[in-house]
Amino acid sequence: MGKIIAIANQKGGVGKTTTAINLAASLAALEFKTLLVDADPQANSTSGLGFNPKTIENSIYECMVDGIDAQSLILKSDITYLDLLPSHIDLVGAEVEMINLENREDKMKQALKPIRDNYDFILIDCSPSLGLITINALTASDSLIVPVQCEYFALEGLGKLLNTIKIIQSRLNPELEIEGILLTMYDLRLRLSNQVVEEVKMHFMSMVFDTIIPRNIRLSESPSFGVPAIVHDAESKGSISYLNLAREILVKNGIDVSKIQLKGDER
Ligand code: ADP
Ligand code: MG
Repeated sequence: MGKIIAIANQKGGVGKTTTAINLAASLAALEFKTLLVDADPQANSTSGLGFNPKTIENSIYECMVDGIDAQSLILKSDITYLDLLPSHIDLVGAEVEMINLENREDKMKQALKPIRDNYDFILIDCSPSLGLITINALTASDSLIVPVQCEYFALEGLGKLLNTIKIIQSRLNPELEIEGILLTMYDLRLRLSNQVVEEVKMHFMSMVFDTIIPRNIRLSESPSFGVPAIVHDAESKGSISYLNLAREILVKNGIDVSKIQLKGDER
């Protein structure tokens, strides 16, 4: 049964989508069958994998509300082993329409149930909010990754997020774990970046991934080519850092990676 991991932080611009796309592509490159679910109406994961959100008619939202079969919406990406459940702008109205539904927090879990067995990993790219769709994502997930940008106010909002996680654990999904806090957009030259790393590690200790994602131009420009960075430039620091994150997650989940040789290992 595939492990479902939400990428969540209600703060915008912290690297959720970049992490979702590039971690999904890295897991797929390591030959783990991976599905990326775009649960953000901004549909950046959808366009980042080369699909035009304007041509998408149905998304995870229609699966949740109208009972459309998720399997029928899945798109094959250019990368073997990587599929996408796309998003479109209409997801914006979803939260309002869902308010009156029974078991409204459980809809995404039910929608993903029939396709779960087809994958090793399902990653959910959440929107920058703690609204009903994100609550659904966290209820459907086994764990979550929290990207934190190495910038001013990095810790801002994290308390609220952790509180929400506690509520979800006690009321909706007792199994939900924190896979890890991921430091993103790290700039070696900036003292601030280093201060943030120290501060986050001091607060959250072993919850923080060893892998730190550097600020890297290939990561920010690859969505404009509609591909993950690993396709755009496999040798870039950004690509290698997400491969390392994939490997760290595999190890954490008890999967033997000793036979998986990664680029960058030989350096
Ligand atoms: P979120 O999904 O949390 O809103 P994004 O992943 O879209 O955040 O990232 C916000 C912006 O920062 C985007 O323009 C993205 O290309 C850029 N970005 C994210 N991570 C990196 C990185 N490691 N290096 C350079 N640019 C990055
Ligand atoms: Mg995003």
